[in-house]
Amino acid sequence: MKSGIERTDVVIVGAGFTGLSAALELKKAGVDFLLLEARDRVGGRVESMEIGLGERVDSGGQFLCEDMPELMALVEARGKTLVETYVKGEFITQPRMSAQQADRAYLGSMAIRDRMNAIAPDEPDIAGLTVAVWLDRQPDPDQAKAAFRSMIEGLWCQALEKLPLWHLIDNDRRITNEVSELQYFVRETMQSLADDLAGDLGDRVRLNTPVETIEHGPEGVRLVSAMGVVEARSALVAVPPMTASKLDFAPPLPAGLRRALGVWQSGAVIKVLVRYPSAFWRARGLSGVVMWRDLPGLFACDVSKDNDHAALVVFVGGPLALRWRELGDTALRAEVTTRLKDALGTEAADMLDFSYRDWTHDRWSGGGYSDLIVDATATDAERIILAGAQPLHFAASELSPSFPGYIEGAVMAGRIAARKIISGLQSAIATSASGS
Ligand SMILES: Cc1cc2nc3c(=O)[nH]c(=O)nc-3n(C[C@H](O)[C@H](O)[C@H](O)COP(=O)(O)OP(=O)(O)OC[C@H]3O[C@@H](n4cnc5c(N)ncnc54)[C@H](O)[C@@H]3O)c2cc1C
Repeated sequence: MKSGIERTDVVIVGAGFTGLSAALELKKAGVDFLLLEARDRVGGRVESMEIGLGERVDSGGQFLCEDMPELMALVEARGKTLVETYVKGEFITQPRMSAQQADRAYLGSMAIRDRMNAIAPDEPDIAGLTVAVWLDRQPDPDQAKAAFRSMIEGLWCQALEKLPLWHLIDNDRRITNEVSELQYFVRETMQSLADDLAGDLGDRVRLNTPVETIEHGPEGVRLVSAMGVVEARSALVAVPPMTASKLDFAPPLPAGLRRALGVWQSGAVIKVLVRYPSAFWRARGLSGVVMWRDLPGLFACDVSKDNDHAALVVFVGGPLALRWRELGDTALRAEVTTRLKDALGTEAADMLDFSYRDWTHDRWSGGGYSDLIVDATATDAERIILAGAQPLHFAASELSPSFPGYIEGAVMAGRIAARKIISGLQSAIATSASGS
């Protein structure tokens, strides 16, 4: 953005999949807009990095499945190549248990999850309960409870002690995939899809433009960044709620909205990518999937693009990520290597490359995979944020009616917000036309 004042109809803050999807919707409707992005790239929590071998890999959001229709359609429309995630063979649970025991623990954890999701989120009996407290009261065997904890902390990267039960149920019910969410990944990287979408938006996307202040009033908005000022009729803040809560609004947001944005906390995740000369685990009848029950939040799976690109991804999520990030590079690598060796054998130490991306406390997205509500009383927070405060609107994957916390959710959230803004602009035009 050139220094000075620019004017447009709608200004969007944040070029993750939410902001990009909103911008494409505005473009389709012929509405003028600008998309301001703090980083030097688009994609937000979808990101790729170059590993030591000179290859680009997804260091942020990566996987999708056929039950995510909007993202699947985008991937197809942009001619991307889907790689089917390798899951044939045995999956390993650590500490080792027999296949029978592992099955029992898995089925037990799914039974707990089904029981949880059968509870209505607004059921008075669960008001104020955290997932941890509720789990403690369940009659299931310890193995099943440990498997449930590991699954949920791995999926949401947040301690069960912090998570309100109603919020987890409410989220989990919106995640409706029947096939594994890890079914596919994009050979060219998911980040390349974000780049393609941004390519359609041309010079309406402004990188390296962190918005500092959002002034707002009945006449419109005025967004200030080091790169200049943008004035618009309305603004869409397409950043995660916790990140939005840190923006400077002038005048301050209404108290209810301020509070609704302030009750979210980002998850913590470190994504580790390990390249191997070959997918040695496959030769031994293993899928490469490892779940560490003794270290909730630790999970590995096969992300080999083909025989020449054998790789595992290891997710370190939740409280474990917060502990392991303090270790430093060498000790983190040693921890991960030891765990992989214990699970898959000594060949797991023969790495071609070890790279990782620490998303904990990320400056622009707060963390990962997503923000969650950590105040059990904040049952209205999402509704209040979605209502916004004219002319300010808010959207993010976490606020999506389907797949909150996923890329699919971001696509949906962005489109829905844009349609709402478009219809608001149209009715304003109709009103002023009828009044003149
Ligand atoms: C490690 C990791 C792995 C994941 N894996 C998967 C997966 O496999 N599949 C899946 O579906 N989902 C996955 N997710 C989740 C998924 O990536 C997110 O849900 C989704 O990308 C969120 O999109 P968003 O646009 O809502 O938010 P974001 O992507 O966070 O976008 C917000 C944007 O706003 C920008 N911004 C923030 N503040 C400002 C400011 N002041 N001014 C201007 N710009 C600003 C940020 O830089 C960012 O680009 C993963 C996430 C992480 C972190």
